[in-house]
Amino acid sequence: MSTDPAEALATDEALTRERLAGLRREHEQIVDSADGATDDEHDPEGTTAYDRARTAALIEAASTHLAEIAAARARLETGAYGTCEVCGKPIPAERLEARPTARTCVGCPAR
Ligand SMILES: [Zn+2]
Repeated sequence: MSTDPAEALATDEALTRERLAGLRREHEQIVDSADGATDDEHDPEGTTAYDRARTAALIEAASTHLAEIAAARARLETGAYGTCEVCGKPIPAERLEARPTARTCVGCPAR
């Protein structure tokens, strides 16, 4: 079974955009509730600060992933896709299926 990389990237991008939209909403709600609410007296900022940092980190990770997908698309166009950037060997199809944005083979450190 082999997946078309362009299709895999499109699916990945759609899912990531969806996740990003959800995270942004969640983040806004947390920020909003932090502005107005002082009802959680036992935990003045702990949980909210933690949640805010958590969603911010997830948003950042999703944004980074979108950039990786765009870069993988560019490599598809130039024909560099599927070639390890470190050793120049083909990246195994299973790895690309599991991680369509992979830039290196399993043996080489990811950059
Ligand atoms: Zn390699």
